Amino acid sequence: MAIDSHMHIHKKVLENQEKYIEAINNNAMIERVINVGLDIKSSEESIHISKANQKFFSAIGIHPLYVASQNLETLYELSNNPKVVAIGEIGLDTNKRNFEEQKKYFINQIVIANELHLPVIIHSNNANKLVIDIFEKDIKPKYGCVFHCFQPNIDDLEYCIENNFYISFAGKITYKTAKKSIEVANKVPNHLFLVETDSPYISPEPFRNQRNETANIKYIIQKLSEIKQINEKEIERMTSENAKKLFKKMDEKF
Ligand SMILES: [Zn+2]
Repeated sequence: MAIDSHMHIHKKVLENQEKYIEAINNNAMIERVINVGLDIKSSEESIHISKANQKFFSAIGIHPLYVASQNLETLYELSNNPKVVAIGEIGLDTNKRNFEEQKKYFINQIVIANELHLPVIIHSNNANKLVIDIFEKDIKPKYGCVFHCFQPNIDDLEYCIENNFYISFAGKITYKTAKKSIEVANKVPNHLFLVETDSPYISPEPFRNQRNETANIKYIIQKLSEIKQINEKEIERMTSENAKKLFKKMDEKF
């Protein structure tokens, strides 16, 4: 069974959430999902859904594109919930130029994660080097880290491997243009990779440009199986085991 380590079901990105929640609850291939918040409100919604649905777990955080006037005290309080397994997604995004503010939120959220012994989920849009710079000069996640939807670069991959940081593969690995991602997938050690849909975004082939959903994780697993020459069931088993190792709270009581 597979764990979708990064997806979004909340009002900020999706109408008819119930339909998508039901589809996951009824999908025998899906063991668990991590429903990732983008700001305080969507993080609260994620927790609400996780409480009511056994397969659902929550990551809570302020995404770099939504950093304006968000309350980190509230984030801290929310993280006490047993189904909150990570802080994220947090990081840097070059689509906006408010770097100082992004950086401040990013660092403060790593402080929270370290204090609460939680791993972090990194969103880095054309910013791997800047993120790594913050890790080296300001603060490093102490309880695990995953680069979600990893933007492929062999140097950055080597840094991640040295630090035991995880790399997560999403729909882009199925695209014809994914040459560099395939190179990264070939090099990433089996104990350090995860799979995710990032739904409702970035649908894999053959559904590119349609709304994505967790069921499509199978196409990402298929592609990784082809690249790594490991059968699909084994890819599922490995990535689920990796997810449980990274998101430790997920396995404490559930
Ligand atoms: Zn995301």
